[in-house]
Amino acid sequence: MFVVFERYDRMSANQVLISEVGPRDGLQNCKTIMPTEKKTGWIAALAEAGLREIEVGSFVSPKLLPQMADTAEIVENAVKIQGLEVAVLVPNLKGAELAIKSGAHKITLPMSVSETHSIRNIRRTHDQVIEEAGRISDLIKSLPDGKRPHFEGSLSTAFGCTLEGAIPESVILNCAERLMGAGCSEVGISDTTGYGDPTSVRKLIRSVREAIGAKYVAGVHLHNTRGLGLANALAAYEEGITTFDSSLGGLGGCPTAPGASGNIVTEDLVFMFESMGVKTGVDLDGLFKARELLAQGLPEEELYGFTANAGVPLGFEGASVVEPA
Ligand code: ZN
Repeated sequence: MFVVFERYDRMSANQVLISEVGPRDGLQNCKTIMPTEKKTGWIAALAEAGLREIEVGSFVSPKLLPQMADTAEIVENAVKIQGLEVAVLVPNLKGAELAIKSGAHKITLPMSVSETHSIRNIRRTHDQVIEEAGRISDLIKSLPDGKRPHFEGSLSTAFGCTLEGAIPESVILNCAERLMGAGCSEVGISDTTGYGDPTSVRKLIRSVREAIGAKYVAGVHLHNTRGLGLANALAAYEEGITTFDSSLGGLGGCPTAPGASGNIVTEDLVFMFESMGVKTGVDLDGLFKARELLAQGLPEEELYGFTANAGVPLGFEGASVVEPA
């Protein structure tokens, strides 16, 4: 039942890829700005812990998100780390051009299935997002072999939107089909608002896979806003999903939901999988060290998660080894 995405075709059923999104999703929701050299050190520590994919920033207007103003410099440093897949978020063609120039390996274009949120978030209707996806895809195709970044379209607010509420499944599937038609290499499913539950997660994964083909739906991006993050991740894993976005310390939060945490917590997610015998290749002690750097870099931000505070159980075997792809 496990359909494995081609980028990680050496991954077996008991192996997952944890894609750390703290430097992007986490930092962009923080009030304070992490200085560039602290970010670079933190990203190096995350990679040192065994994370093989890190979303290090987004190419958006620095006026809108000053936390992301140094993304080009961050990418240029991160691509020097051996074996690390460096991912970035882009809202448009201009962002993609900057991402390619800086050497990013993976580009994610968010498409909010809630059109109201899409207009609010990246000032584009669905038609305009698809046009932009087509332009980005053309740009990627024009690059020489081996220089083409992986291009993911991400279905944001897939489990509901704070502005529109639930979005009809037909709309979501249409967005997925159009993203693939525009040239994306895969489509991710994002619970931007933390509205999902294990049943809705299972159902949507099945539907999107049926619509566009299972091998093009390999990853989920989950938030822990209502405490269902790990339950949703487990449901997704059992559906055959192999890539999980998460953020160290559950960094982030939501400005419109005080007290809510952000992404699912990398430390807890790694602990869950490793306890189950599912290999992540990530070392928890390494994550705890990276968490210390994060706390030093952002002393005013609250960090979440249980494993870092409780420590690992007596007799817990350390990180599992994942064979390099
Ligand atoms: Zn997110």
